[in-house]
Amino acid sequence: MKIAIMSRNKRLYSTRRLMEECQAKGHEVQVLDFLHCYMNIMPNSPTIHYKGQELSGFDAVIPRIGASVTFYGAAVLRQFEMMGVFPVNESVAITRSRDKLRSLQLLSRKDIGLPVTGFASKPDDVPDLIRMVGGTPVVIKLLEGTQGIGVVLAETRKAAESVIEAFMGLKADILVQEYIKEAGGADIRCLVIGDKVIAAMKRQAMEGEFRSNLHRGGSASLIRITPTERKTAVAAAKAMGLNVAGVDLLRSSRGPLVMEVNSSPGLEGIESATGKNVAGMIIDFTEKTAKPWKTQTKGG
Ligand code: ADP
Ligand code: GLU
Repeated sequence: MKIAIMSRNKRLYSTRRLMEECQAKGHEVQVLDFLHCYMNIMPNSPTIHYKGQELSGFDAVIPRIGASVTFYGAAVLRQFEMMGVFPVNESVAITRSRDKLRSLQLLSRKDIGLPVTGFASKPDDVPDLIRMVGGTPVVIKLLEGTQGIGVVLAETRKAAESVIEAFMGLKADILVQEYIKEAGGADIRCLVIGDKVIAAMKRQAMEGEFRSNLHRGGSASLIRITPTERKTAVAAAKAMGLNVAGVDLLRSSRGPLVMEVNSSPGLEGIESATGKNVAGMIIDFTEKTAKPWKTQTKGG
């Protein structure tokens, strides 16, 4: 097969691993720094150019689009879809999952466990917003945050009110969420491919911290997940319409709760914590599933 990997940087662990596995399985692979792709929109003959050449003959495209370049990345991926190239994750599913509010709304419609969550932009009655999610302690998140930045635990109503007011002053949209204390500063990353969880790891926050992000000093280890956790992770990926997804779960006393569904899950942490060849499994899935003109809007 001829496979394109859309990635800003060949040297990133995940990109490198996907490239290696393509080569190991005898595929032709090209990494495209998609911000350098340019496109035309013409009836019946969409094309993509890259460094002076027209891109053609690709059977599949593996998108690895960073959050800050979602808009242009999705546009390039959509152009591949218009050319009939099989996307491992569809452009619509990627933009859908990048929007935390939209994602939680869609997951709630499918009756998937979620932490009680409020969304707000300019709430006039902050105490009522806090009451709406069950009162303090609450977790307050900036809608635009990543890697645990802009995620705050407010233990008291006073603290919660001042954090919410401060974020409002920054004109940022926020999410106010029930704090899942019994998760004990840990979350579970499930790597879903197709309709299976193929690897799972537990991320534990460092002492005195509730955020388990590896960037925040969290540590990763192998974990066995329950059948309910498996089902929840697969259902969440499916609701987003993602073939490949990193689903983050919190273990609560009422069962697994989905925190986030990631469309470009990093492979380094999960491959080293589990010893599994996740990149190879993504290529196996691509081989099995890729067919021309197979794009259809899934999920939603
Ligand atoms: P980001 O997307 O920036 O990583 P998250 O929403 O994933 O932000 O939050 C970062 C971490 O904080 C999570 O991995 C989890 O360990 C912890 N966390 C987030 N929300 C909650 C919550 N409602 N209850 C308990 N812990 C939480
Ligand atoms: N399923 C529809 C779509 O493909 C709408 C749901 C959504 O917001 O994603 O866009």
